[in-house]
Amino acid sequence: MNAEILCVGTELLLGDIVNTNAAYLARELAALGIGCYYQSVVGDNAGRLAESLRLALSRADMVITTGGLGPTYDDLTKETVAQHFGLPMELHQPSLDRMKEILERRGRPFTKNNEKQAYFPKGARIFPNDQGTAPGLAIEQDGKIVIMLPGPPNEMTAMFQQQVRPYLESRSDRVLRSHTIHLFNIGESAVEDKLHQSMLDHQNPTIAPYAKLGEVQLRVTAAAANEEEAEAMMKPVIDEICAQFADYVYGVDVKDLQHAVVARLAQLGKTIAVAESCTGGMVASRITDIPGASQVFLCGAVTYSNESKMAMLGVSPRTLEEYGAVSRQCALEMARGIRAASGADIGLSTTGIAGPGGGTPQKPVGLVYVAAVDGAEEKVLELHLSRGYDNQRELIRNWASMYALHLVLELCKKDK
Ligand code: ATP
Ligand code: MG
Repeated sequence: MNAEILCVGTELLLGDIVNTNAAYLARELAALGIGCYYQSVVGDNAGRLAESLRLALSRADMVITTGGLGPTYDDLTKETVAQHFGLPMELHQPSLDRMKEILERRGRPFTKNNEKQAYFPKGARIFPNDQGTAPGLAIEQDGKIVIMLPGPPNEMTAMFQQQVRPYLESRSDRVLRSHTIHLFNIGESAVEDKLHQSMLDHQNPTIAPYAKLGEVQLRVTAAAANEEEAEAMMKPVIDEICAQFADYVYGVDVKDLQHAVVARLAQLGKTIAVAESCTGGMVASRITDIPGASQVFLCGAVTYSNESKMAMLGVSPRTLEEYGAVSRQCALEMARGIRAASGADIGLSTTGIAGPGGGTPQKPVGLVYVAAVDGAEEKVLELHLSRGYDNQRELIRNWASMYALHLVLELCKKDK
């Protein structure tokens, strides 16, 4: 089975919003083992939508649309698909009742055009919308499937996970399961280079790399008769990759570095406090993004000036004079200082030159030190994060915060 993604919305064509729906669906389809060879975007125009739909159905078994399911005159997706298949529109009473109930709860009036959202092409399978008013739907006809999902990403993703995914899985006699291996401090090309033959050899489970800012993920996916069989097929492959990339793997199915850090500290029953200079609070922000961070995170201090490094963290004036604020020594004293001041088990710090100005030949833009200390061990990293182009301030700060988080995981490696 292969699919095509068709996103509907003039605001997408105008560049007012980014097409995150297409990216999301593409990844989900890949995970399900469904090929996807084309994606397209079309405005809120009946003629052009009909044309795009015809083209998509001429080359794919299944078309997934997003957008254009709302109540207004320019929401045309259902009507256009119905017309394509020659289906009449019918009222779906449960959807109408549900919509009235939702609007009443929100204190909004039920208007005539809301009714439009309860009309569906005859024979459609309806996906109720937990997050909004417009239900999604699927139509199967002439050996083709069209799945229509709402445009708002939160509604679309919830509907996909809860209803569309099981619907697609139920159409197949195999189950698909996958695990994601997370690697840090190695580039995608280096991973691909080492895994190239392995990726070609493995048809089931498959191995697919994804590069994200600063990290690489390897998704291992198996298709099997049942879940246990799929897990058994994946296990040796995952073990082998984890052994091969032992220096870089920081977790399996851990989402990202900050999730991994919070989970690891919670598992060890340890707390952390952060002193940040060049990252300006990004490390603390990433950690506190994670639900449950309060269990492990005590406090963060943004000590940007030398004075605050001395006053709040006890960094010695001599260190600043002799080595400067961007130095291994200063990073260490910052980490020790925040640990002492907060009573946390682990102190973490960052100090560096994010640029664009402020660099010298001895200490160029992109030079960053991160330090992590606990009672038993002290770790400091010297990083050279400049890639030589303009506007890399954000990049340097982001990377620095990721290296800091990763250093916490490294520090905790010794703990069982
Ligand atoms: P509504 O009931 O809100 O009108 P709808 O199903 O008709 O929903 P649209 O009107 O096309 O969907 O889009 C609603 C909003 O959802 C857009 O303004 C935009 O913010 C977001 N959106 C739509 N399509 C996409 C997309 N492909 N990627 C990301 N966001 C999108
Ligand atoms: Mg709309």
